[in-house]
Amino acid sequence: MKPILFNMTDGELEQFITGMSQPKFRARQIRDWLQRGAPTAAVMKNLPETLRRDLDAVAQMQPVRIVKKLESADGETTKFLLELADGEQIECVLMRTTYGNSVCVSSQAGCAMGCRFCASTLLGLKRNLTTDEIFAQILVAQWELRGDAMRDRPVRPNGDPNNNDVSHIVIMGTGEPLQNTENVIGFMERANREMGIGWRRITLSTCGVVPGINDLIKWGRPINLAISLHAPTDELRDQIMPINHKYKIADVMAAADAFTALHNRQLMIEYILLGRRDQDGETVLFNATQQHAEKLAQLLTGKNCMVNLIPWNAVDERDFASPSGNAVHRFQDTLIKSGVHTRIRRERGTDIGSACGQLRLNSARGK
Ligand code: SF4
Repeated sequence: MKPILFNMTDGELEQFITGMSQPKFRARQIRDWLQRGAPTAAVMKNLPETLRRDLDAVAQMQPVRIVKKLESADGETTKFLLELADGEQIECVLMRTTYGNSVCVSSQAGCAMGCRFCASTLLGLKRNLTTDEIFAQILVAQWELRGDAMRDRPVRPNGDPNNNDVSHIVIMGTGEPLQNTENVIGFMERANREMGIGWRRITLSTCGVVPGINDLIKWGRPINLAISLHAPTDELRDQIMPINHKYKIADVMAAADAFTALHNRQLMIEYILLGRRDQDGETVLFNATQQHAEKLAQLLTGKNCMVNLIPWNAVDERDFASPSGNAVHRFQDTLIKSGVHTRIRRERGTDIGSACGQLRLNSARGK
């Protein structure tokens, strides 16, 4: 396996470069390119051509390599299938929005949590990602955003949609971030310090790992917390999210409330609306009936939260069905009438890979 320059400390990089009979200042130039996401030495314009060639022959620049890149038809979403140095694959998604450029990153290769509606868990957990491997995902997006003309300029994220820098991060890709808390916190610290991405522009989504939420409370940074809830009662949640056998809804909500109270932040609730096909092929609502909406409203009334309703995205390997548009709107109306802030998540890039984990899954199966 070739050494990865991005993973080296400044001292190690300097040693590596002087070992190639190059002056020390080349190490600083290379670090600068790596930090902008340069995928190969060939693009490092201020290095001599022979050094660029030699570097690409003996070393890998970044800890991730693009295997596949898919663009949505509207040009707003780019999805990347990335390969790590040991051959594991992960996904990350760049979304160009009206409020800035947002990147959804993975925190693990695969996932152990076993949520019944999710493609990312079908091959189990392979391993945790390192801080470098998570950080490198936003650099892939950054490099993509800038295009050739902008790559020489310093990075200045500011949330301006006309700015070609990553401005927001969501940790909502493959994996449960609070099963890899130390590296995920290391990543957020680094994104804040090195890319200037504010805490309030970082959102971490968990399926409800209570000790991990408590770790975030101890860490003390005012990021946004999202809970993947997907059911309003323990009885129903037990059927689709194995984590619920360990941490019940009341415990998860108590930990989330403590986090949001500490930082005076609005809690995000993720809720996938699921149906099932009955014997006649008709869709029967699984967690999206009127009663479910009322129970969810009871659970959330009075809380400072926003519910993101996500109509289910078909995954071949899962036997759920999408509820009708009417059912989705009825569910939302019930919540809104109870005073619960609710929006229906706009699906981005559905034409380039239906669900989180699907790209990696298909690749592993040779599709
Ligand atoms: S929804 Fe999230 S936590 Fe659940 S299996 Fe999928 S990736 Fe893991």
